[in-house]
Amino acid sequence: MEGSFILLGTGAGPGLPSFFCNCAGCQEARRKPELARTRSSALLDTGDSKILIDTSPDVRRQLLREGIDRIDYVFLTHWHYDHFGGLGELEYYVKLARREPVPLFLPPSAGKQFAAAFPNLADVFAVRSWAFGRQYLFGAVGLTPLPANHGIETAGFLLAAGAARLAYFPDTAGLPALSAQQVTGVDWLICDATFHGDNWYPDVHMSLEQAIALGRQVNARQTVPTHLAIHYSRPVTARELQAEVAPYGNVVVAYDGMHITL
Ligand SMILES: [Zn+2]
Ligand SMILES: [Zn+2]
Ligand SMILES: [Zn+2]
Repeated sequence: MEGSFILLGTGAGPGLPSFFCNCAGCQEARRKPELARTRSSALLDTGDSKILIDTSPDVRRQLLREGIDRIDYVFLTHWHYDHFGGLGELEYYVKLARREPVPLFLPPSAGKQFAAAFPNLADVFAVRSWAFGRQYLFGAVGLTPLPANHGIETAGFLLAAGAARLAYFPDTAGLPALSAQQVTGVDWLICDATFHGDNWYPDVHMSLEQAIALGRQVNARQTVPTHLAIHYSRPVTARELQAEVAPYGNVVVAYDGMHITL
């Protein structure tokens, strides 16, 4: 069976354009909305199940854009606002359409934070903790949380459908040895490339160069840099970004709405 993976949002926390920024990248994204980057979420569609990975503050707009009218499961990579801020957007879907709680798989350490932040969503989600290294099966597609390096407890998800494998690590600085071993030889490594130019937070994020280097290190067939901020130390336009990755041949910069068939 096949699955498809949709990158709903491919921006970092500030989004692109950022309301407070007028760099070349933000100017371009204001002129050409197709170059905008909403905050990071993704969808795994196995045919039978739709699994939402992270609920960015932009998730409502993302679901509308992709014509997704059903969510069966939610998995969060970690408890940062740009990945959980849209949880409340599912309230009326659950109350008016689905009429039963959606299973929400959180990092084990985030259960308390969820309860404290969203007491009003207690009957919207059936909260569970995912476990590192455990494979969750949805039909023929397996999803395995693997540790990322991101300061707080954070997973990347390794998806396996038959022989096809895809690793999604939107927030990570390199990979812990065991995770790197698990993702070796993946067909797609979709990974953190928050910074262009200097990496201001080298313990929690990667730059574009580091993302590409990680893809080579784990021998990924294709590397897909995502979670791009575009601005910070050296703002970059879409054309410049394409020119930078073109020589590698197997690096495709993620964009909002990118579909990958597993
Ligand atoms: Zn900017
Ligand atoms: Zn984060
Ligand atoms: Zn993030």
